[in-house]
Amino acid sequence: MSAHETSDAGPDLARGVTLAQFEGRRLLRGHVGDEAVLLARVGDEVLAVGATCTHYSGPLDQGALEGEQVRCPLHHACFSLRTGEALGAPAFDPIPCWKVEREGERFVVRERSAPAPASASASARSAPPGEPANIVIVGGGAAGFAAAEMLRRRGWQGRLTMFSAEADAPCDRPNLSKDYLAGSAPQEWIPLRGEDFYPASRIDLRLSSTVQRIDPAARQVVTADGASHAYDRLLIATGAEPVRLPIPGAQLPHVFTLRSFADSQAIVAQAARARTAVVLGSGFIGLEVAAALRARGLAVHVVSLDARPLERVLGAQLGDFIRGLHESHGEVFHMGASIASIDAGSVTLSDGTVIAAELVVLGLGVRPRLALAEAAGLAVDRGILVDRRLQTSQPDIYAAGDVARWPAADASTMRVEHWVVAERQGQVAAQNMLGADQPYLDVPFFWSAHHEVTIRYVGHAQDWDEIRIDGDIAARDCAVSYLKDGRTLAVATIGRDQVALEQAQRLASQA
Ligand SMILES: Cc1cc2nc3c(=O)[nH]c(=O)nc-3n(C[C@H](O)[C@H](O)[C@H](O)COP(=O)(O)OP(=O)(O)OC[C@H]3O[C@@H](n4cnc5c(N)ncnc54)[C@H](O)[C@@H]3O)c2cc1C
Repeated sequence: MSAHETSDAGPDLARGVTLAQFEGRRLLRGHVGDEAVLLARVGDEVLAVGATCTHYSGPLDQGALEGEQVRCPLHHACFSLRTGEALGAPAFDPIPCWKVEREGERFVVRERSAPAPASASASARSAPPGEPANIVIVGGGAAGFAAAEMLRRRGWQGRLTMFSAEADAPCDRPNLSKDYLAGSAPQEWIPLRGEDFYPASRIDLRLSSTVQRIDPAARQVVTADGASHAYDRLLIATGAEPVRLPIPGAQLPHVFTLRSFADSQAIVAQAARARTAVVLGSGFIGLEVAAALRARGLAVHVVSLDARPLERVLGAQLGDFIRGLHESHGEVFHMGASIASIDAGSVTLSDGTVIAAELVVLGLGVRPRLALAEAAGLAVDRGILVDRRLQTSQPDIYAAGDVARWPAADASTMRVEHWVVAERQGQVAAQNMLGADQPYLDVPFFWSAHHEVTIRYVGHAQDWDEIRIDGDIAARDCAVSYLKDGRTLAVATIGRDQVALEQAQRLASQA
């Protein structure tokens, strides 16, 4: 073996590899020239694709093989090994495919295959009977964007309008409380697509355009300017909005909530002027904001009514670990406390403690935006009720993302606030609006970043009667399982990305 072959880049695939070089694994990373290439053993075949996820460059060789698909270990994007298509968000761009030639015992890779159309239906497609001519999407977030992208990817040629109350085009919302807010991700990373994507894809993106009413009988939506817009199919993807409490001073200009790109930019601008910050709320967004502001050098206090951060979602042990992690970076916690009032440069807690705060962020959770659906007479119960195809009680209207409550495997219903779930639901709803009959069956997944630690979580445990810890939380190497009646409902991992993927597969096979 040459020196090159033993480097991190893996074997030189232009010289070929034998099955023995897989050493019992099914995925093998190698290179062709300077390009990282992934070999995957699928049955008797060896397939070759680009080795890097097109979402955040995750190493696909450390992911999971599922049939003819590979999943990224970072955010669980899913690619076809045959076509390279990004079948499941959060990636949208395909990975390249490479030709594999058999030379005796060796599998040799020298050149890329010709790019395949994203799907058989994407090119020169004629509209099947009954296909809609006109689709309206209300919401320019995760679900809305993913739906629009999938409609065009599947070759649908009809008229597509997306209304968004935000001033900015669909953006990478999770980053708004992480690297972007911390100052370590440039602004260019935030839009999900460049400005020219929308006209080039014939997506009529109407920004700062709020839909005020849906009229299901007339099949139209009415925007704030009074204009009516007809639809054959409608997707409601209005997401959720931050909770605001009537705290005296909460309307002051240095007090923020965080949902949009504009919110994050406003916090960044205030952080540049401030040395002290208070975050109210110890949920995921509150803690991520606290970490980001610490990274910018502010003195940060976290105030929360809870006993421990994140305890309701992750349990006491992980909650204590997360608190310790944030404290080790200098954040100060005031648990079991609330803010009585906010003044120009400080907050006063309910016990009278005064904390300096030139910047205040309210991270008190969110409420799904249901008003449009309720007023339109759709079935709503703590979310817009949808069936497995994400169809609402009105057959022409679908819902996806933070607003949607869908049937779970056990006859209960589920509504979550996760990026990948919203995007995947957008993708499924899009295909069903075109006449497919695709159930949404994914195991929920989310991640959350706290300083140098990322937690990945698969499944959904509203409550549990047992927590099992495999590994060592303090060593940042653990899988924490949440069980009810002996059944694992969800697993959170730190430093074990492959375990999260395996557990997602296991939970999916039980559903
Ligand atoms: C700062 C932040 C960090 C996050 N980090 C993570 C993370 O690390 N991991 C994770 O899994 N999840 C994370 N989330 C949650 C994730 O972003 C959401 O679950 C996801 O964005 C939901 O997608 P959605 O399409 O349902 O809603 P959204 O992305 O909120 O989009 C809703 C859209 O609807 C528009 N809208 C609402 N009402 C109207 C109307 N009447 N007319 C027109 N437009 C309307 C809004 O303007 C918006 O464009 C984070 C959320 C935030 C805010």
